[in-house]
This record gives sequence, structure tokens and C-alpha cells, in this order.
Amino acid sequence: MSRRPLGPREVQQLVLDTEPWLSCDDCFALIDEYVERLLDGTWTTLDSMSAHLRGCPACAEEAATLVVLAAEDSGQDPGPAVTLIGR
Ligand SMILES: [Zn+2]
Repeated sequence: MSRRPLGPREVQQLVLDTEPWLSCDDCFALIDEYVERLLDGTWTTLDSMSAHLRGCPACAEEAATLVVLAAEDSGQDPGPAVTLIGR
């Protein structure tokens, strides 16, 4: 096996543990679908989304807020979906 040095971007990803990388803008673009699918049980895994939510408290809080609001709208219990955020 040959080894190559890590580039600055790769090093930053390792330090932040947010690989595969997703920006907050990317996260917000996906968050409505993410919340909807958490609630209807069709969410599987999008690693970049999960990694971002684990590493970004602001987006994780936003996701939790949206889950609770959407669950109230549809008369669901938000509890199970909230525990899935970042998984
Ligand atoms: Zn974020």
C-alpha cells in the first residue's frame, strides 16, 4: 500500500469529524425532506447529513425543532423521530 499525505481539506474533515462533508446551506436544503422522512419512517441514512447533524449543534437543533413542529401538525409523537436525528 502506498501512502500519500493528507491535504488541508482532508485534515480539517478528520479534525471536525464531519466527513462526508456537508455545509450548513446543503443541510438546510435537505432538512425539510429529512424531517418529513424521519417522521414517516422512510429515512434510511445519508451519511453526510447524519455527520453534519452530529457535528453542527445549530442544524441539529433546527432539525429537532422542525420535527416537533411537523409532528404536532400531523398529530404524531415527535419523540421517536427526534432520537433519530444524527443517526
Ligand atoms: Zn450546520
